[in-house]
Amino acid sequence: MYKITLSPSGKEFNCLPGETLLESAQRAGISLEYGCRNAACGACKGRLLSGRIHYKDPEAVNHKKLGDQEIFYCAAIPESDLCIDSTETGILAQEALKTPCKVMQKRILAQDVVQLRLKLPDAVRVPFHAGQYLDIHLADDQVRSFSIANAPHQDDDIELHIRHVEGGSYTDYLFNKLNEKDILRIELPLGTFFLREDADRPVILVGGGTGFAPLKAIVEHAFHIGFDQPIHLFWGVRAKQDLYMPDLPLDWARRHPHFHYTPVLSSPAATDQWQGRTGFVHQAVLEDHPDLRAFDVYMSGPPVMIKAGRSAFHQAGLPQDRIFSDAFEYNAHPEPA
Ligand SMILES: Cc1cc2nc3c(=O)[nH]c(=O)nc-3n(C[C@H](O)[C@H](O)[C@H](O)COP(=O)(O)OP(=O)(O)OC[C@H]3O[C@@H](n4cnc5c(N)ncnc54)[C@H](O)[C@@H]3O)c2cc1C
Repeated sequence: MYKITLSPSGKEFNCLPGETLLESAQRAGISLEYGCRNAACGACKGRLLSGRIHYKDPEAVNHKKLGDQEIFYCAAIPESDLCIDSTETGILAQEALKTPCKVMQKRILAQDVVQLRLKLPDAVRVPFHAGQYLDIHLADDQVRSFSIANAPHQDDDIELHIRHVEGGSYTDYLFNKLNEKDILRIELPLGTFFLREDADRPVILVGGGTGFAPLKAIVEHAFHIGFDQPIHLFWGVRAKQDLYMPDLPLDWARRHPHFHYTPVLSSPAATDQWQGRTGFVHQAVLEDHPDLRAFDVYMSGPPVMIKAGRSAFHQAGLPQDRIFSDAFEYNAHPEPA
């Protein structure tokens, strides 16, 4: 067993043989930032100040995302006592629960987006934070991750927005074979993508495609708790038909003067007759807010969008620790560096 010390807080916890840093922190009730748990998205990246680690599956680690001394807490297995540079997220570490659930509703929202409503067993209530995700466990021990699209105060069911990935084995199955009343095995809640509601700053939410899902949960939660800072939602998609809930953000903007909505199309169809914003969604953010020093920014969706946004927003004055992201990584074994 090794002793792990967090810097700068000095907080300590123990790591059992074979456990990752993230697993041991969670067992100790310490909530460190994390996302995909595949050493791909970079959310759990931190600095090793002293000690040695190894990775169980070094090939699965996306070394491109690592700088000097940087490690992924979700995959790093200590080989000695360690000191790591990391702050906690400010929420209590939650134990994720595995439970069956029933598909109550399957609704096509757009050509390649389906909405599922899942019902948990009556005796099961799972507290979660708006913006977190769940894993669907498949028969062959694989998992697929999807963000929870509803806020915790509306937890009668769990809402998901799922994009049909071309050639994707599970989303193919979801679109073509999954039926209402089918039973899924899910694990939730997961991830640390949620609104830092104590921060006294305006927020910018940037979603790409179905990256709208966790942002919808965050916005509904913000309204529910009376979060009164300005909220700017930028939703980037290819064409108009990809804005799969077109009226909802418009309705939010009508009812909440501190909420502002900007849809951005990267390649509008001629038939869209689009008069609104075009281009990359992160560029639209910068056009409207060239100085980001006063904001917290939340991004969810394709990893490429998050990477571009993170770097551009940082250059616009936004400190790295005020950029929160949920990269929709899908590959458990990214290409080596
Ligand atoms: C934390 C987290 C939250 C997520 N939330 C959502 C969500 O709310 N809604 C949602 O639609 N998706 C979400 N995703 C992405 C989703 O998990 C994947 O799209 C899904 O697992 C694909 O499964 P599949 O079996 O169909 O594809 P696979 O069979 O696993 O993949 C087949 C091939 O398709 C390609 N591919 C797979 N997924 C994607 C993708 N997302 N984008 C581009 N190419 C892909 C790759 O080339 C891959 O090798 C999330 C991912 C993470 C990590």
